[in-house]
Amino acid sequence: MLKRLLLLCAFSLHTLAGQAAPESPLLTEAERDYLEQLGSISMCVDPDWPPFEQINEKGEHEGIAADLIQRVAERIGVPIRLHPSRLWSESLLASQRGRCQIMSFLNQTPARDRWLLFTAPIFSDPNIIITREEHAFIPDLHALRGKRVALPGGTMVEERIRHDFPGLNVIVTQSEREAVAMVSERKADLTVRTLIGAAYAIRKEGLFNLKISGQIPEYTNQLRIGVHKDHPLLRDILDKGVATLTTQEKEVIWNRHVAINVQQQIDYRLLWKILLLAALVLGAFTYWNRKLQRLNRELERLSITDRLTGLYNRMRLDETFDREIRRTQRYGQCFSIILLDIDHFKSINDTHGHQAGDRVLIAVAGILRDHIRRTDEIGRWGGEEFMILCPETDLDGALTLAENLRRQLAATPMPPADNVTASFGVACHVEGDEPQDMVSRADRALYAAKRAGRNRVAGQPASSAAPAPTSKPQA
Ligand code: GH3
Ligand code: MG
Ligand code: MG
Repeated sequence: MLKRLLLLCAFSLHTLAGQAAPESPLLTEAERDYLEQLGSISMCVDPDWPPFEQINEKGEHEGIAADLIQRVAERIGVPIRLHPSRLWSESLLASQRGRCQIMSFLNQTPARDRWLLFTAPIFSDPNIIITREEHAFIPDLHALRGKRVALPGGTMVEERIRHDFPGLNVIVTQSEREAVAMVSERKADLTVRTLIGAAYAIRKEGLFNLKISGQIPEYTNQLRIGVHKDHPLLRDILDKGVATLTTQEKEVIWNRHVAINVQQQIDYRLLWKILLLAALVLGAFTYWNRKLQRLNRELERLSITDRLTGLYNRMRLDETFDREIRRTQRYGQCFSIILLDIDHFKSINDTHGHQAGDRVLIAVAGILRDHIRRTDEIGRWGGEEFMILCPETDLDGALTLAENLRRQLAATPMPPADNVTASFGVACHVEGDEPQDMVSRADRALYAAKRAGRNRVAGQPASSAAPAPTSKPQA
């Protein structure tokens, strides 16, 4: 009783704030006593009819109907208990059997009049015809004989369509969503749904191949609270509560469940899609970037490598040569080069074939690479000639290295060729030298080594006019 009084006070304050509502007190003494005896009202609902109403994962009643009925309950001052169900048909059965005193939100129909009394409408929403995009406007459903119309079972629309349009082929679905989806998926030609319900389902499910092709004005939903015939006084009391609902209140509730909720759903989906797309683009970009970097590195490696021997090629030697000359000029350090040429290589080719000659070139390259210092750089100068750049090395140091290499080569068997040897020309940098100056001195020294009998090392200091062989073959 106290609770009811408090609620009535709250309601009175609410009406003072400017809402259109009846004079207080809302209920008569007899009505209040009746509710007192009842204690609470048990209610059957449609468990799957968003945004009008549904039973959520926590088992709570939510949606437009839930909010409207909650307002009505507050105003008449009695709590409402939800009678849980999984299907609308289950709720209808429970109501018929008197397991719940009211049904939350439904149209009045002759079939339902048999066991229910109805309050005044608490909400109205037009019924519309939904087809796929390609359909023309439908002025009259009678024209659609034999067409498949998907309708949720046990609904006012199902009852009336079967009665008013017997030529249509009704396909009964378990839910609103299923009816709309069947049209989208071409399993049905049309459905007739409420404007709000259909707009919600279309936007939520993204069924954008659907359109509104017509309206059935006489089918406008006048949604009411249904009260079991055993409780006529309860219907009168609820009617008083329903009469307190203002248009503004209904709009706020409508907006909360349609505009905002639907928007959130779409935003979430869109957000996930955008994130997924961004991740894919980023992934693809990273993959291609890595691949491109790998290809670029490989391309760079190939551009400076001699294909036969795997040593640096002439282009790379030229670059390093230039850099070392600049460094030497700036810091005044020593810098030497060794130019070597395989002796009588032509006769190796002539005797054993070009491929054998190639194998000899590869073997010589391997020996040279394995015996130079880490700081030196070796490359194929051309044909059967190789160049070794020796930074921070004076003439004596380079001559020693050349002599070591000569011995290694001469001592290493390279079948089928026997006794592969090479002649070496060494030159060291002097002030003002450009690469070609050093190369021509090394060349002259090499020529001198050849002339002196091959398989030997000759050095050419910058000042000396003539090259001097510095080592002789051992055997
Ligand atoms: P010398 O001691 O005076 O240097 O005599 P040589 O026979 O080594 O010199 P020459 O310049 O007469 O001959 C060099 C030969 O090297 C000629 C050429 O066919 C051969 N040659 C150049 N490049 C390659 C190559 O990549 N593979 C093979 N198999 N032979 C090559
Ligand atoms: Mg040569
Ligand atoms: Mg040669």
